[in-house]
Amino acid sequence: MKFIKFALIISLSILFLTSCKENATKTKHKEPVIKKKREYRNFSKKNWIELKSLDTTFIYDIRYAGKNNFVHKKMYPCAKCYLRPEVAQILVKIQSELRNKNLSIKLFDCYRPGKVQKKLWEIKPDPHYVANPKKGSMHNRGLAVDLTIVDKNGKELDMGTPFDYFGKKAHQNYKKLPDTILKNRALLRNIMEKYGLEPIRTEWWHYSYRKKDYPVEQWVWECD
Ligand SMILES: [Zn+2]
Repeated sequence: MKFIKFALIISLSILFLTSCKENATKTKHKEPVIKKKREYRNFSKKNWIELKSLDTTFIYDIRYAGKNNFVHKKMYPCAKCYLRPEVAQILVKIQSELRNKNLSIKLFDCYRPGKVQKKLWEIKPDPHYVANPKKGSMHNRGLAVDLTIVDKNGKELDMGTPFDYFGKKAHQNYKKLPDTILKNRALLRNIMEKYGLEPIRTEWWHYSYRKKDYPVEQWVWECD
């Protein structure tokens, strides 16, 4: 009986040690995956929303995901629109109101990783158009959007200049424009302000949410 007990303890110990070794090996194998994921370390679903998960009717032309932008370089791995929950929820309300008028929001940019901001600044170090990465932009905080309005055929309303036009003609207070353009800009501005998104002086397409602050983040989204 004593021998059986002894044998049982020995076998259990061997089993325990083997399983520990296995676990250790498993952990070792997992390491590279964790390293690869390190870039997403600040990504918490609670603090970020991909806009299309709330409403699939938005139209996208995320310019930094291709070369059609002022630096003529692809800055994002693919086109995604992530925002802080407050901003995403506001845009859904605005989109719903615009859709009642057979119109829709078209997005040019949403969250922009801090490291992309740094690259943009290196190419255009002009604080009127690109926020200094030391301070960070509202886009780096997930609190700003670049957007316009399109009609039921997806055609952009005439706003007088293209997106990322760096000149007086794109300024909010520039009034030497035909009535239709002024009316289109006013439509965009009024609906944004109605829901708490504020314009900046130099870009008709840029609006941000300033009632809450979030830190600048660096994470980059995964592509499908
Ligand atoms: Zn912007």
